[in-house]
Amino acid sequence: MLSAVPPPVTVRVPAKINLHLAVGPLRDDGFHDLVTLFHAVSLFDEVSVAHGDEPGIEVFGEGVTEVPVDETNLAWRAVQLLADRAGRDPDVRLVLRKGIPVAGGMAGGSADAAATLVGLSALWKLDLTRDELSPMAAELGSDVTFALYGGTALGTGRGERIVPVLSRHPQHWVIALHRGGLSTPKVFAELDRLRAGSEPVERPVEPVLEAIAGGDPRQLALSLGNDLQAAAVSMAPELRRTLRAGVDAGALAGLVSGSGPTCAFLCSGADAAMDVATELAGLGVCRTVRVAHGPVPGARIIDNQEAA
Ligand code: ATP
Repeated sequence: MLSAVPPPVTVRVPAKINLHLAVGPLRDDGFHDLVTLFHAVSLFDEVSVAHGDEPGIEVFGEGVTEVPVDETNLAWRAVQLLADRAGRDPDVRLVLRKGIPVAGGMAGGSADAAATLVGLSALWKLDLTRDELSPMAAELGSDVTFALYGGTALGTGRGERIVPVLSRHPQHWVIALHRGGLSTPKVFAELDRLRAGSEPVERPVEPVLEAIAGGDPRQLALSLGNDLQAAAVSMAPELRRTLRAGVDAGALAGLVSGSGPTCAFLCSGADAAMDVATELAGLGVCRTVRVAHGPVPGARIIDNQEAA
């Protein structure tokens, strides 16, 4: 009797913003120690994994021309890693539907890699838990582990050591997307250049942890901060105008997300976020705007109807 081919598995995975990003000095291995507070927001990619005689990747959605469809795609590296660990051939087809801006500092590639681990584990009936997938996620990249779990979490090391953080209330955001992207390694290099040997100024994480636990967006607005922001603004000076415009439009605070150029604006509620988004969209200071809320869960299998 022929065994039936299992149906494709589709996984939805969120983007992240960093509510706090403190970058330590450059280490001898070329990396920086980070202390960061990740927050998963409701912009999603969907990754479908299916058995296929012709292994490969297809990409749809925003920024597709910037996304590689060869073995350099982080999602494909996840296929190869899990295939290697499970002793299987990487005979799968991946379909990526991008809703997370490419090279926007929202860890879209990392999200796809996390989604691929979750999806393949189900397709191949390995039934690995998130905790079991986590070491492979860390091997693939600094932000991949967080995309597995989502929510709000403290990240240390290169960002791959994750501890979940209680956040009691939903927060409402306006996300301003820019034309083009910024290369994460180049933004770190620019930060090293700007610091030019001086010791980094301490950016304590406790105030933002307290604010997110308390849930008051006004308190949270006072404690948001990103060491990479100065470097991102130095490389893309137009971000200064975007950040100012968001606050002038009524946001409580704005910050560059990760290495940028995406900017995230915290708002007092869902209606305020809609107002800020409408005003920002009319000003022409960015390519497009989205409203989002967080925290949301990490990579999750959705059924085919949800995916349709
Ligand atoms: P980082 O995670 O390094 O902060 P980012 O969030 O700014 O990056 P990504 O959308 O992850 O940006 O893309 C960074 C680069 O990675 C892209 O320019 C692209 O060439 C490459 N890339 C590899 N795989 C993917 C993927 N699945 N989706 C998007 N980009 C990918």
